Amino acid sequence: MIVAVDVDGVCCDFVAVFAEYAQKFGETMDYSRYCLGLPEDKFKRVYERIVQLERPVFQMRPYRDTWKTLWDWHESWHDIHYVTARGGMFDTELRKKHEHQTRTWLMVNFFPQHWNLHFVQEKGVWCLSNGIHILIEDRAKDASRWLSQDLKVYLLDRPWNLGDYPHRIYSLREVNL
Ligand SMILES: [Mg+2]
Repeated sequence: MIVAVDVDGVCCDFVAVFAEYAQKFGETMDYSRYCLGLPEDKFKRVYERIVQLERPVFQMRPYRDTWKTLWDWHESWHDIHYVTARGGMFDTELRKKHEHQTRTWLMVNFFPQHWNLHFVQEKGVWCLSNGIHILIEDRAKDASRWLSQDLKVYLLDRPWNLGDYPHRIYSLREVNL
């Protein structure tokens, strides 16, 4: 089976570190909302500083349960692709820096599958044009948008994606490969 997994919120605990630095920079968080309820300009400003500082990116904790399941899938010869929209909102220089950080982070935390990493803004569209039928995502809005007959999108339960969704899972173990 060919599977695509989102990076932030599925493999990587982006929110904990983002929230820590956002608070240091004086922002107020709303954990029940995606992007912690920050307007786009504020979100981008905090995110840019995190990427520039570099160290916070590597402080982001891998979700070990995700890692373990992906490892098992890899051992069972499933084809795993990592998809992320990281860097899409930055200028070229910062985007390249963040892409490099992301590759390194995955290599350290999620080897050996890191070479199947794709930086895409429209993950659902990318999956469909690359023959992928299962996507695991943590953003409810995107999961709903991309769910179709040809693409089964699982929503991994997180505090920022509460609400109705037909394929909500609490662990990657629930994915029917
Ligand atoms: Mg995500």
